[in-house]
Amino acid sequence: MAQDQLQRAQQLIAAGQFAEARAILQSIDHPQVAQLLAMLDQMEQTALQAQQVNEPADPPPPDDDESPADFLARLQDTVDDAEDDAPSPRRASVRTEADGTRVHDDGTYQMLWDCQYCGAKKLLGVTHRHCPNCGATQNPDARYFPAEGEYIAVTDHEYVGEDQICPSCDALNSAKAEFCGNCGAPLTAAARAKVLQSQTRRAGAQFASSGSRDITQEAFDAEMERVGVKPRKEARSGGSPWVRFGIIGIILLIIGGIATTVLWTQETDLFVTGHSWERTIRIDEYGPESDSSWCDSLPAAAYNVTRREEVRSYRQIPDGEECQTVRVDQGDGTFRQERRCQTRYREEPIYDTKCYYTIDRWDFSRTAEIGGESREDAPRWPPITLNCAGGSRIGCEKESGRSEDYVLYLRNRENDNDYQCSVEQALWQDAGIESRWTMEIGGVLGDARCNTLARAN
Ligand SMILES: [Zn+2]
Ligand SMILES: [Zn+2]
Repeated sequence: MAQDQLQRAQQLIAAGQFAEARAILQSIDHPQVAQLLAMLDQMEQTALQAQQVNEPADPPPPDDDESPADFLARLQDTVDDAEDDAPSPRRASVRTEADGTRVHDDGTYQMLWDCQYCGAKKLLGVTHRHCPNCGATQNPDARYFPAEGEYIAVTDHEYVGEDQICPSCDALNSAKAEFCGNCGAPLTAAARAKVLQSQTRRAGAQFASSGSRDITQEAFDAEMERVGVKPRKEARSGGSPWVRFGIIGIILLIIGGIATTVLWTQETDLFVTGHSWERTIRIDEYGPESDSSWCDSLPAAAYNVTRREEVRSYRQIPDGEECQTVRVDQGDGTFRQERRCQTRYREEPIYDTKCYYTIDRWDFSRTAEIGGESREDAPRWPPITLNCAGGSRIGCEKESGRSEDYVLYLRNRENDNDYQCSVEQALWQDAGIESRWTMEIGGVLGDARCNTLARAN
């Protein structure tokens, strides 16, 4: 619980909401909280003074150069010591990204490299700009991440960008350098050192070393790929290109099949062979029905009401955090490691009172239907008798809707295929027995496309 509160207080302080943060802190039972509150007071006062002088509020941290936010981060670490698996000698700042991810800086360490001339292994990216054994210049393409437990920290590292490679002599230079330290050539057009892809692991897991690299093989592979002799890595990992072409081909066939089924039709000559019609009246009845709703929207006419507590919604409660560790090659012989954490949430039900009740209202009761098999049997509405028509007592009935359907029966005289179509009453009335019509028939399924039905010329 204390951990959640600390987290919340930390966010509030970062947002400058000192009063809320103080309220939360005061509720925490921890010996160091008093000290923290004092720091917070001082910070707030400084911010206030800065405002009065009409300057942007940017309060300097109190006496010792640790801000309350940092202090909180440290305090939190003592609370959740169990999760502390970072190799960092000193947990530095925490920043929060736009999506709420808290990024803990776990320090900067040296990349490793192997000398390709004398075979010396696990040389350090920053310390050994040249091979200590044979003096060869460090090749940035040979850098790799160390295994965990083999980390060598770089303290007070100022990151200025990826190293530059001198276009004249291939010497490795800092990103800050304007001229090559080895030959003096200007570095304006110098290539930057390539960086490895960042690596990510879950809390509790271990990074392995990507190990020594075979630069000659990598350069050869890259060149082969460039001239198109070898398939790209992506293609290899996604299975053979022929398998992929096969899958794409099958998908295209299916799409083609569907398109043909829908689109391919044949115009067909048809004769009318018969008629039918049907008319329906829908009847509602007024009467008691069971229903339920949240009691805050209980209808006034409800009766026999019983109440029950039920889950109405859920609220999101912060419940610890989910962390991943990432290491990022910085291209200057170092990599930085950070712990990226997001708040985990659990759902907590919110209860409310549900009302179960009886209510009198109109609802569907029955239909009255009538139909005929020819035009001569003239379409008409079914006769209906409504119980206490016009009243709204229990058991009373009222009409609630009418529908009608007119069907033409058609035949293809060439193959004796029969079709039927629902049409407008006027067209149905007009279409005499043996009259000639045309209609599109589906080429694959032989289905009638009634919307294309037209009188033949
Ligand atoms: Zn060497
Ligand atoms: Zn040079």
